[in-house]
Amino acid sequence: MKKRHVLPVLIGVLLVFVSIPAIYLLKTNLNENNPNTPLPSHYTNDASGLSFTRVDTIITVAETRSELIPQLQAVLRYAKAANKPVSIAGAKHTMGGHTLYPDGIVLNMRPFREMHLDTVTNLLTIGSGALWEEAIRYLDPFNRSIAVMQAFSSFSIGGSLSVNGHGWQKNSPPLSSSVVSFTLMDHNGEVLTCSRTENQELFSLVMGGYGLFGIILEVKLRVVPNENLTFTLYKFKSADYLTWFKTYASDNQDVKLVFGRLNVSQKEFLEHATLNVFASAKIPLPPKPMQSDPAFTEVKRLIFRNSVNSEFGKRLRWDLETGIGEFSGRGTFSRNELLNDSVSLIENKDTASTDILQEYFIPERHFNAYIAELKKVLPNQTIDLLNITIRDVYQDTDSYLAYARENVFGFVFLFNQKKNASDEAEMEKLTKRLVELAIQMEGTYYLPYRLHIDRDTFRIVYPQADAFFRLKLKYDPDELFRNKFYDHYK
Ligand SMILES: Cc1cc2nc3c(=O)[nH]c(=O)nc-3n(C[C@H](O)[C@H](O)[C@H](O)COP(=O)(O)OP(=O)(O)OC[C@H]3O[C@@H](n4cnc5c(N)ncnc54)[C@H](O)[C@@H]3O)c2cc1C
Repeated sequence: MKKRHVLPVLIGVLLVFVSIPAIYLLKTNLNENNPNTPLPSHYTNDASGLSFTRVDTIITVAETRSELIPQLQAVLRYAKAANKPVSIAGAKHTMGGHTLYPDGIVLNMRPFREMHLDTVTNLLTIGSGALWEEAIRYLDPFNRSIAVMQAFSSFSIGGSLSVNGHGWQKNSPPLSSSVVSFTLMDHNGEVLTCSRTENQELFSLVMGGYGLFGIILEVKLRVVPNENLTFTLYKFKSADYLTWFKTYASDNQDVKLVFGRLNVSQKEFLEHATLNVFASAKIPLPPKPMQSDPAFTEVKRLIFRNSVNSEFGKRLRWDLETGIGEFSGRGTFSRNELLNDSVSLIENKDTASTDILQEYFIPERHFNAYIAELKKVLPNQTIDLLNITIRDVYQDTDSYLAYARENVFGFVFLFNQKKNASDEAEMEKLTKRLVELAIQMEGTYYLPYRLHIDRDTFRIVYPQADAFFRLKLKYDPDELFRNKFYDHYK
């Protein structure tokens, strides 16, 4: 090859090598499961990996209150003038575009995580962008812990409040029950305090209000003592769940955290259950900082992932969970250690598939009938069922769009689906069937997940929906705060 041809050829080869990974990166980003993975600028996604959307701008907010307020006021003024909708993002673990809107402005609230504990009143004031794991790390040296939160600590306070999350704290209503007050920036940029006595209507609309009424700034939360807990695992027939739950968890004053599991391997599908119970050890916490063991987390993640699309893997996991117990091998655990579980524990690193959560809230009177029906609906589905966890949720008397309108049991389903049209259609069919079943059982479905359910069915499950959307227009007449959840259901 002549010397003068070498340079263009080299540049050509280089371009091919650079562009292939760039195109690949763009494509795999379309498939990304981790909501924190960097995306091309102007694009965003959520934990489903299925909400890839082009937006106008993503604005990362300021870290301090004094800078945050004028910044948000300027953004809202600009958004109104430019007629751009504003959506609000925390840790983005919702799954149906609840944190984004096409061509809209996304507020990334994560940097705003100032926090302060009043050790006399036991109230934590915390920026809405903080994650539970950051709050737990802050509280640990004070020997305090979170009263109510989800089963993982990777979620933001603002996002958790806006879905009104719940977890495995025994006999507990959702998170709203531990909220004393919060500050909210409304569509005019005005900062309002909302509590059970001040702006009470907004207080109830914002909790479980999916970011449609304004921007939550700081939240005042009631905290509880951190304490030493011991673990006990009970195994029994799933038909006896309620008896075991009452005897060994609900009626036992010492039990603080509890969750159940159903066996999802084909062998004796849903026939067996476990109860994972954490009770006060009644001995003081050792004077050492909270521990986390990344190697143990990775082993647990691998055992879990190996059960995807594998009957052998599911049986192995069930045997391990019921034989030695997820938490065996340790004497006691601090409440903070147990609550500080990252979603990386179940992270799916396969970019061709995604893990999809669903949750149904079923009153106790239908508990056994519900499991009996699940045995008919769930087998022989194309979609892979990885897990069913059960926790009790007490009645929520605080939030407007409440899902726990009486004491219920939350059945959490973790599915794995391929990221293709046929699995998406199968998942939609299955979701509709499961929502029908929940309605038959006088139950409800949880709203942070995929938007497979139509407006009319939504109104059957949530009869307060029309009034909720009318009040949305009272507090945000220009519909400045919007996301895909709003457009789907309003
Ligand atoms: C693996 C996994 C496990 C889960 N486990 C649980 C569980 O145990 N219990 C449970 O209840 N849920 C659970 N969820 C459901 C739910 O998606 C999370 O509780 C949730 O996403 C909360 O936090 P986030 O920071 O991710 O919220 P995001 O997804 O970021 O936001 C949720 C909603 O809040 C709004 N929002 C966020 N920040 C603000 C703010 N500052 N002001 C106003 N609005 C705001 C958003 O616009 C959005 O509508 C789980 C989800 C996943 C993916």
